Amino acid sequence: MNEQITAPVVGRFAPTPSARLHLGNLMCALVAWLSARSQGGRILLRVEDLDAVRCPFMGENTRYMLDDLAWLGLTFDGEVLYQSARSEIYEIYFERLREQGLIYPCYCSRAELHATTAPHLSDNTPIYDRRCLVRAARGQAPPTGRRPAFRVMVPDREMCVQDRLAGTYCENLLRDCSDFVVRRADGVFAYQLAVVVDDALSGVSEVVRGNDLLFSTPRQMYLQERLGFAAPHYAHIPLLVDANGRRLSKRDGDGCMENVRAKYKTAAPVLGALAAALGLIDAPESVTLADLLPLFDAQKLPRDTVKLPDGF
Ligand code: GLU
Repeated sequence: MNEQITAPVVGRFAPTPSARLHLGNLMCALVAWLSARSQGGRILLRVEDLDAVRCPFMGENTRYMLDDLAWLGLTFDGEVLYQSARSEIYEIYFERLREQGLIYPCYCSRAELHATTAPHLSDNTPIYDRRCLVRAARGQAPPTGRRPAFRVMVPDREMCVQDRLAGTYCENLLRDCSDFVVRRADGVFAYQLAVVVDDALSGVSEVVRGNDLLFSTPRQMYLQERLGFAAPHYAHIPLLVDANGRRLSKRDGDGCMENVRAKYKTAAPVLGALAAALGLIDAPESVTLADLLPLFDAQKLPRDTVKLPDGF
């Protein structure tokens, strides 16, 4: 018999609790959850509270987040992982990159970096011109009195992700992105390293997240390659917009879970609105997660924007 054994899917939701969850975050959680569960897989929750200043451990936003997820009925497998408790693990993989000769210190301040006329990445960080690497190669001393950040050196090579929703997305690692920070000057490990290590060590096989992170994916795939990790499958979900196609405005509190919960009282109409926006049901009606599970089909998901129903 030619029976193929495939490992169960492991998905995850990995929010940064720097603010209260937003309907856009909830939509990503919902799709990640439905995708994993509808394939009989597991879904993990990881709190990306690396930055203790913006996200104090078990602070108000984290507590609200756990409560908002529970309100929606989303349950997760295993223990919740807190990145703030995992620095020693990131250190091991940071050292592995260093042993490969890929890490160098960067003394540039934010102001110096932003003063460059180099093109910027979509998160507004400039493409690094390697000035600290060049200075070290010339034997010049670094500036005194500054703690360095650490960058990982990237090759002049194309890296492509075959994304299940966004299609093929490629970047030349050096030209389109350049050496990126894996450890900040304050010692905190950067998101790019932590996310790669955590996904790999948790056995994550499917990453479903917002489209704003598509441009980070080639960098993460590069780290996976250097650290000997298999790349998960990726699905980047388009932005959630209102019925007029406008971005939900955080300033006006659009989509903030505090307002959503005050208005709707129960999760069913909210799930219905998200499911309709995602093309899983025809009209926004009250639904449960159990109703949605058999309807989930990644092929039906919108590729452009996810539009909330009128009046929601
Ligand atoms: N923590 C990130 C965020 O909230 C998401 C990380 C990821 O899904 O890879 O934007």
